[in-house]
Amino acid sequence: MSKPIRKAAVIGSGIMGSGIAAHLANVGIPCLLLDVTPAQLTEEEAARGLTLEHPAVRNRLAAAAVAKLKKTNPPPLYDEAFAERITPGNLDDHLASIGEVDWVIEVVVENLGVKRELLSRVERYWKPGTIVSSNTSGISIDAMSAHCGEAFRRHFMGTHFFNPPRYMKLLEIVPGRDTSLELVARMKSFCENTLGKGVVLAKDTPNFVANRIGTFGMLATLREMEAGGFTVEEIDAVSGPALGRPKSATFRTLDLVGIDTFVYVADNVYDNVPDEAEKEAFIAPEALKRLVERGWLGEKSGQGFYRKT
Ligand code: NAD
Repeated sequence: MSKPIRKAAVIGSGIMGSGIAAHLANVGIPCLLLDVTPAQLTEEEAARGLTLEHPAVRNRLAAAAVAKLKKTNPPPLYDEAFAERITPGNLDDHLASIGEVDWVIEVVVENLGVKRELLSRVERYWKPGTIVSSNTSGISIDAMSAHCGEAFRRHFMGTHFFNPPRYMKLLEIVPGRDTSLELVARMKSFCENTLGKGVVLAKDTPNFVANRIGTFGMLATLREMEAGGFTVEEIDAVSGPALGRPKSATFRTLDLVGIDTFVYVADNVYDNVPDEAEKEAFIAPEALKRLVERGWLGEKSGQGFYRKT
């Protein structure tokens, strides 16, 4: 039996984690927003003589996400009290708090190894009744939780929000082989009635439903662009507003999603579809990988196909 969802923990405070936390806070659910200690000090932190162990540094990623949410979302769009319901913190410092929440949402990088390791750590503090879900774009729910105990796996499922979580109505719920169907039904009802989402129940297949189609279309567009010698601007001109999709121009979307995340998502289908002919369609172009190596990740790094102004 699950508990009513009154308190949540969101792990990973990037594009999606911060957006999901904001959406939860906005419907009145207090949540922890946790992230790892940044790998390096900023120039300013170094100049102040701080170390990676200093609380301000340990909390920097999650605290920055909350500060950004406050700045970029005016009160008419978000309940004024929303930000106060989010407690940013460092994952290592707050891991034990997992035992006190009703829903833990994993929203870290799209990497099976990282997600598996995180779930092991979550399981150590998890209490039966608490739902644990992943926001993965398409990594197998069963593969992610294969090493976890059966009781934990019964409480584990995919809850795939779309970007931006506040505005995108679609949410895929993905049960694994062992997920309790009663918990899936409860989560569906919660997401529809409390979070205002339109829920699609998806199967645990590579990239589920919407991203399998979306990634396919995006990669086909990139191949056509290369073959036809079109520019980024030309492709955006014909793939967004011109088609009546104001927010979905190809390269604007890639910058919003994160180019690194898109490459992980494409690679995941490539690695996991058994059909050789289908694999071909999911080869991420080398040009995207070079942008990632250069640190041009899209809006989150300030530069992708477009420079963020
Ligand atoms: P992101 O790169 O913006 O953020 C990832 C965050 O996870 C970073 O803040 C990073 O520091 C943190 N992190 C990494 N390892 C961690 C760990 N072990 N513990 C705690 N925090 C850790 O990525 P994102 O775009 O927010 O994507 C997160 C998840 O959501 C991925 O699984 C992705 O596939 C999925 N998703 C992304 C989108 C999108 O449009 N970007 C849409 C739907 C789903």
